Amino acid sequence: MGISATAQQLKPQPQAQSVKTKATKKEVKTREATKKKEKKMEQERQAMVEQLRNHYQITDQRVLTAMSVVRRHLYFPEAYSSQYAPYGDHPAPIGHNQTISQPYIVAYMTQCLNIQPGESVLEIGAGSGYQAAVLAEMGAEVYSVEIIPALAEHARQILVKEGYSNAHILAGDGYKGWAEHAPYDAVIVACAPEELPEALVTQLKENGRMILPLGSSFSQRLVILRKTKGKIHQENDLPVRFVPMVHGEGS
Ligand code: SAH
Repeated sequence: MGISATAQQLKPQPQAQSVKTKATKKEVKTREATKKKEKKMEQERQAMVEQLRNHYQITDQRVLTAMSVVRRHLYFPEAYSSQYAPYGDHPAPIGHNQTISQPYIVAYMTQCLNIQPGESVLEIGAGSGYQAAVLAEMGAEVYSVEIIPALAEHARQILVKEGYSNAHILAGDGYKGWAEHAPYDAVIVACAPEELPEALVTQLKENGRMILPLGSSFSQRLVILRKTKGKIHQENDLPVRFVPMVHGEGS
């Protein structure tokens, strides 16, 4: 009995050693695969930026630079990242019947707002968190509201992981805006209300800009607004198709 106890005591060491070696090999393999994938994603990202510049005529270099830096593929929830080309010229599903906007729409809306570093921006519809990351990369202080709590949590986590401490996410109803941090230099809305939400106008600074898709799910236009001397001036722009802005409880 004494002998077998000694044998057992001696046993664990070589086993622990071999487990450690295996784990290290696996780690190396995973690291290599990640590096290879990152390189491929980097190439696709630069191709996306070239398309934005050359085909879609996006001219604001700060928007192009931000989009060449933000790792769009990481904003796709895991289950969707392998099904859709993250840098493709199209919107893509992110779960909960929602979509991440087409890169061109993100670039166009951001360019229209002419965001300057240090400005505060309210976003309605954080979704994947990608648009918030682009604004944060441009140096804005971003406050983004998302009505689906699981998406809000996902967006919050990836923004923290990517180091955007200037992007803040609130799980809540965007019809109310985010009064605590108002007024905002700019407001960007990623879902379509049928009418202009009053709280968003109230929370916009004097001389502030707002861009939003406005209308029913069959007919929407991307609208740019400016608040001058307390009044809203509106210009109609592109016909677009966004997910509807839904009404939460109590709104
Ligand atoms: N900007 C996002 C695109 C999100 S799609 C991105 O970069 O991925 C539009 C988002 O608006 C969806 O996630 C949807 O849940 C959200 N949404 C719809 N109605 C809303 C509301 N009332 N308040 C806040 N978010 C809303």
